[in-house]
Amino acid sequence: MSKETKGIAILGSSGSIGTQALEVIDSHPEYFHVEVLTVYSNAELLIDQAKKFLPNTVVIVDESKFQKVKDALWDDDIKVFAGKESLSQVVEMDGVDIVLTALVGYAGLKPTLAAINAGKNIALANKETLVVAGEIVTALAAEKGVNIYPVDSEHSAIFQCLAGEFHNPIEKIYLTASGGPFRGRSKDELLKVTKKEALKHPNWDMGAKITIDSATLMNKGLEVIEAKWLFNLTPEQIDVIVHPQSIIHSIVQFTDGSMKAQMGLPDMKLPIQYALAYPDRIQSDFPRFNFMDYPQLTFEQPNREVFLNLDLAFEALLKKGNMACILNAANEVSVQAFLNGKIGFLDIALINQACMEKVSFVQAPSYDDYVLTDTETRIMARELEASF
Ligand code: MG
Repeated sequence: MSKETKGIAILGSSGSIGTQALEVIDSHPEYFHVEVLTVYSNAELLIDQAKKFLPNTVVIVDESKFQKVKDALWDDDIKVFAGKESLSQVVEMDGVDIVLTALVGYAGLKPTLAAINAGKNIALANKETLVVAGEIVTALAAEKGVNIYPVDSEHSAIFQCLAGEFHNPIEKIYLTASGGPFRGRSKDELLKVTKKEALKHPNWDMGAKITIDSATLMNKGLEVIEAKWLFNLTPEQIDVIVHPQSIIHSIVQFTDGSMKAQMGLPDMKLPIQYALAYPDRIQSDFPRFNFMDYPQLTFEQPNREVFLNLDLAFEALLKKGNMACILNAANEVSVQAFLNGKIGFLDIALINQACMEKVSFVQAPSYDDYVLTDTETRIMARELEASF
């Protein structure tokens, strides 16, 4: 492996973002090599990936699978660790230039902070990290001189529009939303929708948690909070517009009224590649956009009466403190309860809302306060879930 190539650590290499990142890396050995791979429990896939990409180190969080991975990689001279504490250690390794955080949910916070502390640039695919503790994460990144490159397609779009414009004030940004599988449906129609229907996203192929978040518009709400921290915006500067074709990935409006949008076919490999290769654009063979396939690009307002989660996110931003952490923890529990068939689709937002009303509010939370808030909220959300 050449010293010139960037060493990538992928936290969450078995997921949708992780596997697509490995496709990008595989296409560009002249730019990237894999230093670290981590998975939660998919030992078989981790072993396959490790044998192909020959990272320095791998982590399997599920300790019961440690011996299996260790035995399989014995001859390949790859270090193997287990347990979630290992995630925070391997990101600090010398050969790592960029840490791609593709973990799901709150679990991403601690290893992301460890990576920033070690001075590693972050390719951020784990939006929950900024939702939970955006203030701490962005302050630490500034202190350590670390860049956070967005992988989320909307935020990558904003970041691409801002290239060469970082000194120019932003008037407003528009995050585009596909509207998900239930766009246009009424509350009554959504009372009885099934998990199978909710998991069918019209444009994007993603993991289960984010797909449900897209159906409830929580994903867009979390993205509003993520955008606030990435681009240092006020809630009033962020707007959401539904764009069902998912071709315009988001828009920046500058103070002279000019708007820049970033466009392309919906394919997560593009924002992943941009985050890893920044500031360069490198060749890709991803399918190209054909205007005749999309004679119309359309826009509409999100239905905030039906999809309550979007306004809950704005409310959390306005209330500040630990409110977004409460919303995130409640949502992780309520989405899981829906996936387990315990609550209905519309109950997800109702549980989130109730937690925001009931969990202890902390105006200026420390890291430890966020940990306590996360725990308290999960207990509350599980109690509520039982009452639905
Ligand atoms: Mg997104």
